[in-house]
Amino acid sequence: MLKKKRSFISYIIGITGLIILAGVVSLLIMQKSLIQSEIEHRANDRLFREIRRVKSYIRFDKAGVPYIKDNYYDKAFSEDETMDCEIYVFTRDIEGAFYDGSVPKGYNNSLQGAVKDFKVVRIGEREYYAASRKAIPKKDKASDITDASYMISTMVAMSDIKTEYRGLWIRSCVVILVVGVLLFVFAIVLKRRLLVPVKELEESIKSNCENLNFTEKLNYDGPFIELELLIDANNALNDRILKELDRQKEFNANVSHELRTPIAVMHAQCQLSREIAEKTGDENMLESIEVFEKQTTRMKGLIEQVLRMSMLDSKKHTFSDEDVDLLDVIESVCEDMEYVCDKDIRFSYDLKSTVIRANMNLIVIVVSNLVSNAIKYSNPGKTVSISCGKEKGYYYIRVKDEGCGIEKNKQSKIFDSYYRDSDNRNLEGYGLGLPQVMKISQYYGGTVKVDSLPGRGSTFTALFAEEKVRRTEKNQEKNQGKNRNS
Ligand code: ADP
Repeated sequence: MLKKKRSFISYIIGITGLIILAGVVSLLIMQKSLIQSEIEHRANDRLFREIRRVKSYIRFDKAGVPYIKDNYYDKAFSEDETMDCEIYVFTRDIEGAFYDGSVPKGYNNSLQGAVKDFKVVRIGEREYYAASRKAIPKKDKASDITDASYMISTMVAMSDIKTEYRGLWIRSCVVILVVGVLLFVFAIVLKRRLLVPVKELEESIKSNCENLNFTEKLNYDGPFIELELLIDANNALNDRILKELDRQKEFNANVSHELRTPIAVMHAQCQLSREIAEKTGDENMLESIEVFEKQTTRMKGLIEQVLRMSMLDSKKHTFSDEDVDLLDVIESVCEDMEYVCDKDIRFSYDLKSTVIRANMNLIVIVVSNLVSNAIKYSNPGKTVSISCGKEKGYYYIRVKDEGCGIEKNKQSKIFDSYYRDSDNRNLEGYGLGLPQVMKISQYYGGTVKVDSLPGRGSTFTALFAEEKVRRTEKNQEKNQGKNRNS
C-alpha cells in the first residue's frame, strides 16, 4: 500500500510549532507552580508578621476577653507597601469562636488550629490563607486572668494576592502571543522561500516533460543552498537531455538522408522489374515484385516523414513565407484526398477566404495530416467536416470527424513522435503526422487543440497566432512585386 506523502515544509513547520508549543506549555506550568509557591511563601510571611505585630496591641477586658486596641488600626499594614490587600486580624478561642478584630464576611467560627498553623480555608465562595498562633497572655493589670490562652489569627483572600501576580500572567500571555505571531510569520516566510521555488521546479519539470522542451533554464537567487543545488542539477539534466535529443535528431536525419537514395533506386528497380515481368507474363515474379514494391513505398514514406520532422526540428532551417489562402489550400488538398479515398466518406466544408502569411508547404502538411487522419480513423458512411477562419486572435483550420475518437488519457500522448495507439496498429502510419502538425502550429505561435470522445469522433483545431501570420503592408507589397515578376 502506498504511504500517504506529506509536504516536507509543512512537516518542518508543524514539528517546529509543536516543539515551541511544548516549550511554552512547560514554561507556563513551571511559572504557575513557581508563582503558586511564591504566593504561599509571601502570604505565610505576611500573615505571621502581622500576628507578631498585633500582639503588642492586645488587651483584655474585665471578663478576660482579649481585644485589639484601636490605635493598631491606625498603623495597620503601613509597613508592607508591597502587599496592597485586605488582611483580617482577630482573636479567637482554641475552638474558633471569635473574640475581637475583623473577619471575612461569612466567618462562622470555623477556624480551628494547632499551636502554629498556616492553611487554606474556604468561607462561602472564596478561599483564604489563614495563619494562627496560640498566645499566652502575660498578667494584665486590668484583669485578673493570667492563665487563659487564646489564638491570634490573620487571614487574606487568595484572589487578592493572586491579583498582584496578574501583571506577570498578562506579560506571559503577551510573550506567548508574540511567539505565536513570530512562528506564524516564520511559517509563511519559510513556505514562500521554500515552497515557491520547489513549485516552480516541479512545474518546469512537468511542462518540459509534456512539451519535450528542455531549453528553459531555472534561476534561483534565494538563500537556500540545497535548493540551488537541486535547481543546478535540474538545469544540468536539461542540458544533457537537450544534447541527447539533438544527437538523436541528427542521427535520424543522417540515416534517413543516407537511406533516401538506395530506397529511391530500389523503388525505381521495382518498377523496371514489374515492366519486365509484365512483358514475360511471369505471374509469380509479378506477385513478389508487388510485395517488394509495397514495402519500399512504405519505407519511402517513413523516410520522407522522418526527413520532414528533422527539417521542422532544425534550428538552421528557415521557411519562406508567402500569402496563403487557407480556403484554397484546403480545397486543393481535399479534392485530391476525395479522389484517392477508397472509403465511403462524406466531406462537408465551411470555409471562409482566410489569407495568412505562411509557408505554403507547411500549411499543406497540416491540412493533409489532419484530413487523412480523419478519413483513416472513421468508418465508411461517416462525415468529415472541415472549416477555417479566424477567432480570438488566432487563424484556425478545424477538422471534425465521426470516427473512433481518442480516450482522455491518450490525448496528451498523440503529439509525441512515433506514438501510435495500440488499437490502431493495423492501420498504416508512423506516428509522425500529429507531431508535425503541432510543430508547424507552434512555429506560427499557435498550438493544436483536440476535443474527442471515444466512439463519437474527434475535432482537431490547428491554431496560428495572428501576430505571427498576419499580413503587413510591407509583405503585401513584396508579394505583389513577386506576382508581377512571375
Ligand atoms: P498516425 O500515422 O499513426 O496516424 P499521427 O501522429 O497522425 O500518426 O496520430 C497519432 C495517433 O493519434 C494515431 O495513432 C491515432 O491513434 C491517434 N489519432 C490521430 N488522429 C485521430 C483521429 N482523427 N481519430 C482518432 N484517433 C486519431
